[in-house]
Amino acid sequence: MSKILAFSIASALLVPAALHLQAQTGAPDAGDALEIYFIDTEGGQATLFVSPTGESMLVDTGFAGGRDTDRIVAVLTQANVTVLDYVVITHYHGDHVGGAAELAAQVPIRRFVDHGPYTVELQPRRRAGFAAYKTVRDLARAIVPRPGDSVPVQGLDVRIVAASGALITTGLTGAPGAGAPNPFCEGARLKVPDPTPENFESLGLVVQYGRFRLLNLGDLQWNQEHQLACPYNLLGTFDVFHTTRHGDPNSGAPQLVHAIRARAAVMNNGERKGGAPEYWQSVRDAPGLEDLWQLHRSTAGGADHNSPDQFLANVDESDHGHHLHMSVRADGSFTMTNSRTGFKKGYGVP
Ligand SMILES: [Zn+2]
Repeated sequence: MSKILAFSIASALLVPAALHLQAQTGAPDAGDALEIYFIDTEGGQATLFVSPTGESMLVDTGFAGGRDTDRIVAVLTQANVTVLDYVVITHYHGDHVGGAAELAAQVPIRRFVDHGPYTVELQPRRRAGFAAYKTVRDLARAIVPRPGDSVPVQGLDVRIVAASGALITTGLTGAPGAGAPNPFCEGARLKVPDPTPENFESLGLVVQYGRFRLLNLGDLQWNQEHQLACPYNLLGTFDVFHTTRHGDPNSGAPQLVHAIRARAAVMNNGERKGGAPEYWQSVRDAPGLEDLWQLHRSTAGGADHNSPDQFLANVDESDHGHHLHMSVRADGSFTMTNSRTGFKKGYGVP
């Protein structure tokens, strides 16, 4: 099926014709790098991927209220993205889906990708994000993938490894180290899940570009990370670990974090959300890790459990909205830039 036909329903409702045509005829920023922007949403998530072909995928939309939408739109402008090809909603908590309707009012969105048309948490405190999202979800054709499915972003290999509580059960085909016995499972702990069942439904993604691999498991829970890592590491090894659940200790099982051998980690914590000292230490202790980048200095982390300032996108209450920008080459090398300071660090071919 042609792309035009495949996207006809979504585009008729959400994408102005002129922008649609532009996206069909060429990438706004075609090059040889994958650009990733870790956008500050004060402890939510919004991560933008722009593939070398120019197709775009935003993972989560931050909170409702306009602040995060403004930040996302500013980064889209910087990245020269005029149409979002895919918006992945990992799950329906307000720090992930909250900004979806506001964003859809400002930027054409071709497809949503989510875990299905329901939420397990319909109590009043948690309902608003899903209710607002549903109004725009119903206008577009949402993709509801199963573990093992791909999100067909041109130029990237995006694989779903968790969805609606289901996980992949065999090693990811072609992934380095996938399916191997995991020595970190010996004596590994499980945890009693906290009462946030929607986190259990999170989509988890593996994004691969050439030799580069990034893991983003949304807000998946500790015991699910354990299942993905024990007794066999089903995911393989990575260059970058996007920390699960903002660095909250209900996630971050070391049997996974230590097995994936990421060279860099990015913690999407807020100043007072996530960024727990024990989680931070576990990532810091992971074999092969060079740097732990943080979207914020964590108040809870204090002097001993925060990275040096140059690895922090935002360092205090008055200094919000700076992002981290990663530029990735197919040989697996990448460069990270801190938008607050311009500090750059390169990571070579592995
Ligand atoms: Zn969250």
